[in-house]
Amino acid sequence: MKAETLSFIRHLSPFLDWIYPPRCRYCKAQLFDPGDECFCAACREKIRLVSHPFCPNCGRPYFDGSGDDHLCGACLAGSPYFQQARAWACYPTDELSGHPLREVLQHFKYGRKLSLGKPLGRLMARDCEGLFQGCVFDVIVPIPLHPKRLRWRGFNQALLLAREVGRRWKIAVDPFVLLRSRETQPQTQLDERERRKNVRGAFSGGAPARGRFACLPWRGQSPKGG
Ligand SMILES: [Zn+2]
Ligand SMILES: [Zn+2]
Repeated sequence: MKAETLSFIRHLSPFLDWIYPPRCRYCKAQLFDPGDECFCAACREKIRLVSHPFCPNCGRPYFDGSGDDHLCGACLAGSPYFQQARAWACYPTDELSGHPLREVLQHFKYGRKLSLGKPLGRLMARDCEGLFQGCVFDVIVPIPLHPKRLRWRGFNQALLLAREVGRRWKIAVDPFVLLRSRETQPQTQLDERERRKNVRGAFSGGAPARGRFACLPWRGQSPKGG
């Protein structure tokens, strides 16, 4: 899109917001606060943002705990193959249906609602800014989709989220560092062990990333009962 067109749309945006006020992507309530992204205040209250204390390695949150960050049992038993992992938010497993975050994510991924990518990505970028303390990233690498899945969905949801995080954090996004070597089954119904098995050997290197410090947006598993 041309720069003049983008500038025109940017100037038009406040008028469009006035004619068609932005609404909560879950309950459709009107969003009055210009700082609101995606969800109204009532829906946002139900979303658990990951915050301290959590495991400094894998980012597993301790919702019922207080005090400092500390390693979880899994990380004490064996170091994971990554330096740090963080989840932005989660929802309790006993609230699987009717939870605003889950429902909107389902619409985005499986309902192929491309328009949800930007508001979700902006929200994620804003709220997870403090989770990677002391880290400097060269590049954000979205998890690639298998070409077959990409054809079906029409877009890679991880790339759309990564673009918004990259824009906010001022980090380049490179979707060609990783390639999907084989198809995998959806992770939704799998437990942690099955997920590991499912994605083993599913990725290979694409564009050279040697010496680059990468951040991969990855959807974590919701904590059981938490
Ligand atoms: Zn709402
Ligand atoms: Zn851990």
